[in-house]
Amino acid sequence: MKKYTIKTIRSQALFQKAQRLMPGGVNSPVRAFRGVGGTPLFVRRAKGSHLWDEDGNRYIDYVLSWGPLILGHTDKDVVHAVQEAAMDGLSFGAPTIREIQLAELVQHFYPFAEKMRFVNSGTEAAMSAIRLARGFTQRNKIVKFDGCYHGHADAFLVSAGSGHLTLGISDSAGVPEDITKNTISIPWNDLPTLKEVFQQNKKQIAAVILEPVCGNMGLVFPEDGFLEGVRALCSKHGTLLIFDEVLCGFRVHLKGAAALYGVTPDILCLGKVIGGGLPVGAYAGKKEIMDCIAPLGNVYQAGTLSGNPLAMAAGIATLQKLKTTDAFPRAAKACEVLASGICENLKKSKLPFQILHQGTLFTLHFTSQKIRDLLSVKTSNITLFKHYFHAMLTRGIALPPSAFEVGFTSSTHENKDIEKTLRANLEALSEVKK
Ligand SMILES: *Cc1c(COP(=O)(O)O)cnc(C)c1O
Repeated sequence: MKKYTIKTIRSQALFQKAQRLMPGGVNSPVRAFRGVGGTPLFVRRAKGSHLWDEDGNRYIDYVLSWGPLILGHTDKDVVHAVQEAAMDGLSFGAPTIREIQLAELVQHFYPFAEKMRFVNSGTEAAMSAIRLARGFTQRNKIVKFDGCYHGHADAFLVSAGSGHLTLGISDSAGVPEDITKNTISIPWNDLPTLKEVFQQNKKQIAAVILEPVCGNMGLVFPEDGFLEGVRALCSKHGTLLIFDEVLCGFRVHLKGAAALYGVTPDILCLGKVIGGGLPVGAYAGKKEIMDCIAPLGNVYQAGTLSGNPLAMAAGIATLQKLKTTDAFPRAAKACEVLASGICENLKKSKLPFQILHQGTLFTLHFTSQKIRDLLSVKTSNITLFKHYFHAMLTRGIALPPSAFEVGFTSSTHENKDIEKTLRANLEALSEVKK
């Protein structure tokens, strides 16, 4: 077999320098390649399904900036819209027509989003959604699920305590107990435990927040009846249900997980795709809930750059294209073909791994256990994943540098990209087996 290597001399030198200037050399931890070892690639530019690093190596990209780029890199309409907006002014701190246009587009895909507020990241969206839920219900506690990610606000950096019914403990330093004591984290797909939590915290739970399709422990689906069950319990107990669709929105289904499963939350969080590659988040919901936000209500939330014209322009161009072209079905088709090809390769190689996919998201789980929660995901063989990741990278395929992140496809992933990826996948699997 051909011996694969890539030269990453410039990336290595830049990483050395970056590490002197920034913690871990990065501005977001998972970029540092700690999950796979080695040197992160310093990206120079990208186009469509491909990106080029500083050493001139070319890769087929399945990270796509961790989700936003459903139209691929540097889509000409998105770039043009941003250029036009830039010529008119970078920021005004005053309302603009583009905010209305993006809001109307979001509403087209999520009709239950009667009102919304734009912010600058998914973190901000989820953090603000929780404050809104607490303000609206006059309650303090929130319930989340182990393995779901809702950004890095204090209240979410909590993993399960010793018993699942006990209050959470933080998995980050710097988060006061006073804050985490109001967060309860329980296993995904575990309705009986949620029922018990409601019993033991009567009239105290402001919100249950979840990723309706989990994408931050690899892809993990809700089991039949789970989302419906959570919805019913929330309604029964006067608790708001928050869908964090920052990742799965516009990705598992063009109209999101809410449409895919036919379950409607009280508050919706969006991000990633709605910014088309620029920093945007949003939270949305029924009028009477959203009207609790300042200036109408007494829940405070603000942002100097919120609704930024460039970010709105990128979002509008992206959602407009999703609405009026076959971009989504093409991206989903690419994912489907890729996943079924990997499934074939797994059969040939007789490895006990499994590929899950939905819409434009996929994960190759390195375990034979039935994937249903964080515990089962954690049975993945990390050593083999690291090996596989690098075997793919040296063949020009850029996957997310962690066993617990989903892969993304775009409308620019063509048949020849998928074929090349599948050949690399077959070789990489047999390399891993040795
Ligand atoms: C990425 C993500 C966030 C955080 O968004 P940022 O823009 O990184 O702050 C929140 N929730 C989910 C489900 C995410 O995938």
